[in-house]
Amino acid sequence: MAATLVVEASRFVEVRTGSDSIGDAHDFGDAVLLPGLVDTHVHINEPGRTEWEGFETATRAAAAGGVTALVDMPLNCVPETVDVAALQAKRDAAQGKAWVDWAAWGGVVRGNAGSLELLVRAGVPGFKCFLIHSGIDGFAWVDEGDLRAALKELRGTDLPLLAHAEVAPPVDEATAKLNRKAADWREYATFLASRPDEAEIEAISLLIRLAEEFRTPIHIVHLSSAKALPMLGAARMRGVPITVETCTHYLHFAAEDIPNGATEFKCAPPIRGAENRESLWKALEDGVIDFVATDHSPCLPAMKRGDSDRFDKAWGGIASLGLALPVLWTGMKQRGLGIERIAEWMAAGPTRLAGLQSKKGTLAPGADADFAVFDPEAEWIVSPEDLHFRHKISPYLGAKLLGKVRETWLRGERIYSQNGFAGKPRGRELARP
Ligand SMILES: [Zn+2]
Repeated sequence: MAATLVVEASRFVEVRTGSDSIGDAHDFGDAVLLPGLVDTHVHINEPGRTEWEGFETATRAAAAGGVTALVDMPLNCVPETVDVAALQAKRDAAQGKAWVDWAAWGGVVRGNAGSLELLVRAGVPGFKCFLIHSGIDGFAWVDEGDLRAALKELRGTDLPLLAHAEVAPPVDEATAKLNRKAADWREYATFLASRPDEAEIEAISLLIRLAEEFRTPIHIVHLSSAKALPMLGAARMRGVPITVETCTHYLHFAAEDIPNGATEFKCAPPIRGAENRESLWKALEDGVIDFVATDHSPCLPAMKRGDSDRFDKAWGGIASLGLALPVLWTGMKQRGLGIERIAEWMAAGPTRLAGLQSKKGTLAPGADADFAVFDPEAEWIVSPEDLHFRHKISPYLGAKLLGKVRETWLRGERIYSQNGFAGKPRGRELARP
């Protein structure tokens, strides 16, 4: 359908059907105009681990992928964003470097319940916690007692608590068993067996129970196990305030196709089998899964690959920022899903989680004039030049994708086109008032 977006003073004022050449109109031809995408699960790692990633490189990658706002995770940076001083350090670090708008989740870790109220007042859109070791010693995982202390603080704020939903006992048990029989850690099957579905199921069942008791929104990040879906569907049916995201890699890859030694595919929870993947797609279609994020989580190349191809030694995290739209669209096209659903799954859905719905993730009048110009027919193969994040390591290298971002506009100004980035970083922090 032909449409015209009318922009004034960096906001949308009207969406007209039909093509309408008014004033200094830009003609985008047959391209699809999508709301600026919002990614609520990105590890920028700055300050402190800027050699892994950083505001400049991460936000460039976002801009090239049609993403106009992202929310940073509170770990992998130093200091971890678990108090107001750390949030201020992040704000200082971002100065003049962000190509897109951004916000920062606060962290819930063992013993910091007393810092949460001040972080709420400082404007974080919500909090993230881990129910299992996070891979970062400075970001301590929480148990039910810690969760209760945090939820007591958050009750009434309406801010969500995001949770990495795996618990340790099933993982520890499975790992010990694999080691007893001297399993080969270069095999993907070994890694997959070490992160069983039960770890997710047990964590999610605890989180549902707490969301129901505290009536405080809890959000499951990066759901991988489709076996947790019936429980989540039932909880949502009875009005439990629980929401769910999955990630592009769980929708695109399948365990059966991952070569041994290919540690660029390592993440937690793990990429599971093809049948599991189809159930995730179905749940997304049915609305049990709310939206899709990247969980872009890079590290130094030596930590991901090094000289070892062992899955137990490699860093867990997949770098993908900037690729999510064509990756998702490729999968949607194969399953006969309409492009309009991208607006919910990659813009409106994540925008609601971060409480930005009046400003971001929509083409509606009054919202920031953020949009992506997308060619849904372009076929291409991902090469290192297409990756704008710091280290060009990604399981998507060599992937054949459908659809390409032609341009990205932030608050009425073009920040990216296929000729390159325009102007200088103009991204702002999207703190709550
Ligand atoms: Zn993450």
